[in-house]
Amino acid sequence: MIKPEDYKSLLDFNTLAIDVNCRYFFEVTRAEDIPVAIAFAEQQQLPWLVLGGGSNLVFTRDFPGVIIKNALRGVQYQARDECVLLTAASGESWHSLVMDSLAQGYCGLENLALIPGSVGAAAVQNIGAYGVELEQRLESVTLWNNRSKNWQHLTKAECQFGYRDSIFKHALKDCSVITEMRLQLHKQAIVNTRYAALNERLAQHGIDSATPQQVAATVIEIRQEKLPDPEQLPNAGSFFKNPVIAQSHYQHLLSAHPQLPCYPASADQVKVPAGWLLEQAGWKGRSQGHFAMHNAQALVLVHLGGGSGTELLAFAEQIKDDINHRFSIKLEIEPSVY
Ligand code: FAD
Ligand code: NAP
Repeated sequence: MIKPEDYKSLLDFNTLAIDVNCRYFFEVTRAEDIPVAIAFAEQQQLPWLVLGGGSNLVFTRDFPGVIIKNALRGVQYQARDECVLLTAASGESWHSLVMDSLAQGYCGLENLALIPGSVGAAAVQNIGAYGVELEQRLESVTLWNNRSKNWQHLTKAECQFGYRDSIFKHALKDCSVITEMRLQLHKQAIVNTRYAALNERLAQHGIDSATPQQVAATVIEIRQEKLPDPEQLPNAGSFFKNPVIAQSHYQHLLSAHPQLPCYPASADQVKVPAGWLLEQAGWKGRSQGHFAMHNAQALVLVHLGGGSGTELLAFAEQIKDDINHRFSIKLEIEPSVY
């Protein structure tokens, strides 16, 4: 029978390094202990929360219930004609999985190198970077559905993936724990280097036909230049989502901001880079209290130490108000707030 720890500090369990405690803390290494930990919370009418690497959430207060720290481990490769089926337990580190699959000689995850966090949360967020999203590689997931109290397998289609979105943020929010993921990788080196920043950097290195390993190394190089390492400067990555706005709104904004970039989103909508809006509005590098907008990447709010989640959210609200005032765009916060 697994036992929880009482009143544990979550300081080392969230990459923003917000100093809060939880009432109970389970570290779960066996999938069958997940329903046990949830039942423990339910018996005491306490909330529960599954935690991966804590790189996409903000704690605004002590968590009054049960934290279930996902420590499920295990990785297997199974050959299938030209492909390989990779099965990974959800508590594995995402970046370690990317590097392991490349070391085994399999291609497909290289653009998603150096994204912090766990395998399970990667499906919640449908992680994406440098022109690739998880859904392009995912075959299915296994999860504990605490509403129906059973184990389920969801296919890719059933996960209802969208841009940094999935069913786990909607219909299956707060009631499911992903325990395993299956990914389809290639034995052949088929790489995607179309994303401009990646393409340009490969060209600078004189590489015109990149191997998957070279793509991963280049993505890592760019990310290390642009993004603060949470170990050195606590942060939760992009704090705001890239807004999707109507074409007509975009055309209207162009008259005042002719340089405003956009990318297609749907037939009548475009995606606008939030980082560009923030930089134009002068937020890049600005600090307030214990937090700051990073000086190399305007989307990332960094914790300078000693601050609270509520202070961070107040700073974010001020930024959102300013962007709304200037561009009539309502930014949304990307990390989950607790
Ligand atoms: P956590 O923060 O632990 O959890 C996030 C949410 O998912 C919580 O609501 C949690 O309850 C839920 N959850 C966690 N595990 C499970 C599970 N097994 N089952 C069900 N629900 C679960 N994201 C990108 O998409 N692209 C990027 O390029 C990127 N770059 C980043 C760079 C930095 C420096 C940082 C700090 C973050 C970045 N992120 C990026 C965001 C983040 O890394 C991803 O969202 C990641 O998938 C979060 O994983 P995690 O294990 O830390 O999740
Ligand atoms: P960037 O290259 O400066 O580009 C800014 C934004 O423009 C990105 O968010 C990207 O959207 C969008 N973009 C650029 N080229 C595009 C294209 N060809 N088609 C569609 N959209 C395009 O971005 P960056 O901030 O340095 O980040 C690089 C990559 O890492 C991005 O993919 C970004 O999403 C990812 N990242 C995510 C986080 C996070 O916490 N979520 C943190 C850091 C980096 P997309 O987001 O759709 O790619």
